[in-house]
Amino acid sequence: MDKVLKFGGTSVGSALNMKKVANIVTEEGAQITVLSAMSGTTDTLIKIVSMAKTSSEATEIEELISTLKDKYCNCIEELLVTNKQQAIDKMNSVFDILRHEANNFRGDKSDKVIISQGELLTSAIFTLYMKDCGLKAELLNAPDILHTCESSKVDTEKLKDKLTKLNLATDTYYITQGFICSNYKNEIDNLGRGGSDYSAALMGVAINAKEVQIWTDIDGMHNNDPRFVENTRPIPQMSFDEAAELAYFGAKILHPSTILPCKELGIPVKLKNTNEPKAEGTTISDVENESGNFHAVAAKDSITVIRICSTRMLMAYGFLRKVFEVFEDHKTSIDMITTSEVAVSLTIDSDTHLDEIVSELSSLGNITIERDNTIVCVAGGFEYSSSGRAAQVLAGISNVPVKMISYGANHRSMAILIDTKDKKETLQLLNNTLFN
Ligand code: ADP
Ligand code: ASP
Ligand code: MG
Repeated sequence: MDKVLKFGGTSVGSALNMKKVANIVTEEGAQITVLSAMSGTTDTLIKIVSMAKTSSEATEIEELISTLKDKYCNCIEELLVTNKQQAIDKMNSVFDILRHEANNFRGDKSDKVIISQGELLTSAIFTLYMKDCGLKAELLNAPDILHTCESSKVDTEKLKDKLTKLNLATDTYYITQGFICSNYKNEIDNLGRGGSDYSAALMGVAINAKEVQIWTDIDGMHNNDPRFVENTRPIPQMSFDEAAELAYFGAKILHPSTILPCKELGIPVKLKNTNEPKAEGTTISDVENESGNFHAVAAKDSITVIRICSTRMLMAYGFLRKVFEVFEDHKTSIDMITTSEVAVSLTIDSDTHLDEIVSELSSLGNITIERDNTIVCVAGGFEYSSSGRAAQVLAGISNVPVKMISYGANHRSMAILIDTKDKKETLQLLNNTLFN
């Protein structure tokens, strides 16, 4: 029992699926099982928060709450026998908290409390089901073990320490919540949307697991985004670096922070399908990628381009440092960057501090902003000694306006910036020309 398994929203989205999850957990011998909230829950909770924030009609909020409660109620009805009443009690207390927080909204504090309830309830129901099946199962409260520091970074040492002190028994299935944690003020918090994958990776590292498995609704990392492209196929083996890059550039199957902690300890990450446990899936490890082939395409939306044009850049040194300092001051990371004689263009994926950034950059040159862009990342086969690879990519999308290109930052990938309205066409064209 030295594996950490994580199941996403659809994997625990119904009583039937929870039964499948319990089978997988026992077959795999999971030491720790990390669960998301039942599918759709977090979206609904976020809606409740935004309605509570804008002081919407109490009846509208109540409607959302009671529809959500029906979903959990039906699941408990179908799933549980011996521990049914305990599950109902837990559900009632969770929905009391939701109502209380929504009706007495305390800003960020209520926001975090409300959003955490999905994972808390789902993991409680699942643990009771495991016990109903006669299995030795124990619920771990993630906010008691997973803490973030003031910088919002996870305190990995503390997590390791807490898990070590718990002295996990090898004959017990430990179930815990993904996504949620405590912040440095000891208040409930979360790791951001899709963060359960990251929780699983952190737990895997903390117990030095043999493997981290991410179970979802698809048979592994595909070579293109299946939400937009037909005829994609799973990739059986992938390197840590390539998987991290694809996750960063929009492959939704993995939260972008998942891979790095596992890479550091060399813990393989498997991506598997809950509905098809026999399917091979994807194994992410320190394998070398096959050279000479294109491997996969991913796309990241909501990208803003900032173009800075300044004659002061000509033959000057230190100009880029000044530009980067502005982004650093506003804790905003840069994805793509291109430079010319008197201009630099860069992209960001968060507009939170855009106004301040633009205002400060204005002292360095003329600034233009373009919103609603998408970065398309093509991974695989860009060895520095190869020729014609970039040409092959661009030839495939010759009718699509290209706004920026990033090539040569590493030998694994090439990134292209396009207008978001051209995304679906671009992904399909790349699929047709690079893989078929
Ligand atoms: P979970 O709720 O289990 O965490 P997610 O919705 O976060 O699941 O991730 C799985 C989804 O990621 C798939 O259903 C698929 O639509 C989407 N996806 C996007 N890009 C890829 C890709 N390259 N390979 C596989 N799935 C992808
Ligand atoms: N439930 C959270 C979300 O929907 C976390 C996760 O699923 O990973 O974002
Ligand atoms: Mg996910």
